[in-house]
Amino acid sequence: MKINPNKCVACGNCTYVCPMNAIYIDPAMNRATIDRDECVECYSCFNGLSQEHLNPSLVRGIRKVLSVLKVRFDPEPDVCPTAAFEPDELSWPRVVRRAFSDPSVPHESTGVEGRGTEEVKTNDVTGRVKVGEVGFTIEFGRPGVGVRFREIQEMCWTLAKANVSFEKRNPITSLMTDVPTGTLRSDILAEKVMSAIVEIKVPVERTEEVIRLVWDVEKQLDTVVALGVATRCEEDGEETVVLPILERLGYKPQRAKTNIGLGRLVTLEASGQAAAEVNGNAAAEVNGKMAVGAGAKTA
Ligand code: SF4
Ligand code: SF4
Repeated sequence: MKINPNKCVACGNCTYVCPMNAIYIDPAMNRATIDRDECVECYSCFNGLSQEHLNPSLVRGIRKVLSVLKVRFDPEPDVCPTAAFEPDELSWPRVVRRAFSDPSVPHESTGVEGRGTEEVKTNDVTGRVKVGEVGFTIEFGRPGVGVRFREIQEMCWTLAKANVSFEKRNPITSLMTDVPTGTLRSDILAEKVMSAIVEIKVPVERTEEVIRLVWDVEKQLDTVVALGVATRCEEDGEETVVLPILERLGYKPQRAKTNIGLGRLVTLEASGQAAAEVNGNAAAEVNGKMAVGAGAKTA
């Protein structure tokens, strides 16, 4: 994103809408300026402010005259009065910033907007986490904080050494040049994004080991990390394996979400799968195919 200095009248409105605090009024130029290294190309400034088309010279002139009279002339807080924002033609690798930061842009690798993954919210349709497995979403960054891929790289290397399975339908996995070692493309490591999610899964017996690994690595990272844990309910709808581990590690179950599996019947593929399961004499298992997601923050 760029601000055209010939148009900007330094009203300061945009400095309040940038979630990364990347816009400031340069005192030397008296123009709003974007710190390009901190900007994650989220487009909140361009899309969040109404772009008016007032004449910059006229607005500057009025502001100057009124300031002499000790009167302020400020535009409404939700407008850029002179339409000074000019989106860049983003090329690789900068374009990954927008993909992970502008929620209106779908990821090329998955077709999903925002962080580019459905996580286990659609587990009833996708079956990412199967019986006997535990899935993890490891979320990096937040508005105001962000994350660079080199921080994510540290986590991926550690997880890969522990022989976890990275989710294929995830945009971070698609940016790996070597999935078995968890190695990301080297040309994106310095790029900063608003947030990103790594998804892995392991056999349920390894739940505590993986959580402790994430704890160890996150202490070394210059960002915030939130951990989500997902597992399948038993046939009676209860979950008695993973939840006690989470509680022992200090997590509270109140934040858990339960996917009751209604989605399985709304697509042809899901309907076919459900019918096959019933025909395969697994009616009881159909009831047991529920996923539990425990949104457990670690930082
Ligand atoms: S809102 Fe527009 S005119 Fe005002 S400081 Fe920002 S870029 Fe400049
Ligand atoms: S694109 Fe987003 S991060 Fe960049 S300056 Fe605009 S609001 Fe800030």
